[in-house]
Amino acid sequence: MIKAFENLEVWFVTGAQLLYGGDAVVQVDGHSQKMVDGMNASGLLPVKIVYKGTANSSAEVSDVMGRAEADSRCIGVITWMHTFSPAKMWIHGMQKLRKPLLHLHTQYNEQIPWEEIDMDFMNLNQSAHGDREFGHILSRMRKNHKTVVGYWKDPKTLGHIAVWERVAAAWADAQDCRIIRFGDQMNNVAVTDGDKVEAELRLGYHVDYMAFSDVIPFFEAVKDADVDALVAEYFSLYEHKSELEDRSSVEYRKIWNSAKAELTLRAVLKATGAKAFTTNFDDLGDADVEKTGRGFDQIPGLASQRLMAEGYGFGAEGDWKTAALYRTVWYMTQGLENGCSFLEDYTLNFDGQNSSILQAHMLEVCPLIAAAKPRLEVHHLGIGIRKTPTARLVFTSKVGRGMAATIVDMGNRFRLIAADVECIEPRELPKLPVASALWIPKPDFEIGAGAWILAGGTHHSAFSYDITPEYWEDYAEIADIEMLHISDSTTIESFKKDLRVNEVYYMLNKALK
Ligand code: MN
Repeated sequence: MIKAFENLEVWFVTGAQLLYGGDAVVQVDGHSQKMVDGMNASGLLPVKIVYKGTANSSAEVSDVMGRAEADSRCIGVITWMHTFSPAKMWIHGMQKLRKPLLHLHTQYNEQIPWEEIDMDFMNLNQSAHGDREFGHILSRMRKNHKTVVGYWKDPKTLGHIAVWERVAAAWADAQDCRIIRFGDQMNNVAVTDGDKVEAELRLGYHVDYMAFSDVIPFFEAVKDADVDALVAEYFSLYEHKSELEDRSSVEYRKIWNSAKAELTLRAVLKATGAKAFTTNFDDLGDADVEKTGRGFDQIPGLASQRLMAEGYGFGAEGDWKTAALYRTVWYMTQGLENGCSFLEDYTLNFDGQNSSILQAHMLEVCPLIAAAKPRLEVHHLGIGIRKTPTARLVFTSKVGRGMAATIVDMGNRFRLIAADVECIEPRELPKLPVASALWIPKPDFEIGAGAWILAGGTHHSAFSYDITPEYWEDYAEIADIEMLHISDSTTIESFKKDLRVNEVYYMLNKALK
């Protein structure tokens, strides 16, 4: 169990029936409790499982699923059929349950006791029987869920449950997620835009806009002493040239302005309860900010970097879909080691089999992916409405495998594109002082980048070293959205088939549901 998830619960409900008599149900109940205790004690599950007893009739199933749905601590339900459990009795309960569902196909005893097995034993231990009956009704109802098959003590089985728990926790977080856009989409950009009503219906989060005039009161309420303290914190946390600490220098003033922007944004996010935000370099307050002091002197890049590291979702240029997805990635990987970031495909490096893509942005890369202690630097930034120097954290990313993901709006559905990538040793960029990563898409640059582009993927992504394809599979299943996975086994031929088949599937799927 990890601290970030300590207030969350996954409910465990065991299916049975009274056909075999009350004694059998008492045994089923005892076994279930032991299994739940054992799984919780394994140390492999990030969210605790709470055993909710056996369900022996339609009324009991309906009752427990209604309670699961109403309890805000409950992020999902695991079901298991110890004995046979006629599945018509699950129909109403499954209709009630909208939270994530995991069907665990396991058995209390690991192996068949060949010498002792008799009819009583077989009647009690018949998950092979009962889980098939239960699986049928989920299939018949077209009910989205995850099926995990394996012995309940096996770390591999627990690993599948752990991934689902993390995704279910992030899903619950998204259902209560407000995103604030400081500025609208960058004008005319298609891929970062989309249907915010459909996003709330389908993915849960709510997207709001905040005019810069509403940010100003927060900006003006920031105390100089707090800004001074934050600047001192920067100097203690990050490598930097000592000249930056000279209070009479332009560089110091730019760092101070960045710190004030960070305190402003954090105050707005706290006051509004928002978990994610977007910025737009064309919307930063008064045009003559240097004179009026009513606005940011440059995009709040350093603030975005540091707020991302705290877990706030971020998307550049008004990209609320990636802001939400980054928040989800950060949330579900809490307690894991290697970090995540908002990233942008920028510049290509053609080099045969080592062809790669430079991932950078003007400034906004999250320091959680840094290979070494970030450097605080101040440089000119000539993009957007302000042409002036600004502070930023400069670093290169760790080396290793990771996944980039994006969600695009296809008009009739959301499409999740998740791609395996390999971050390689970065090169020095002496004249481009920004944070960056350099990666080779899987299976190689030609196919990986080609498939992403064919699928209509953004130049923005939510990247993580800790996420495996199973996370995105579970996420897409819970959200009931299309998922395309670009992996070592992707070919353009098969990928194009997937695109065509999915087009038809999602048209028909809508008609079925
Ligand atoms: Mn961009």
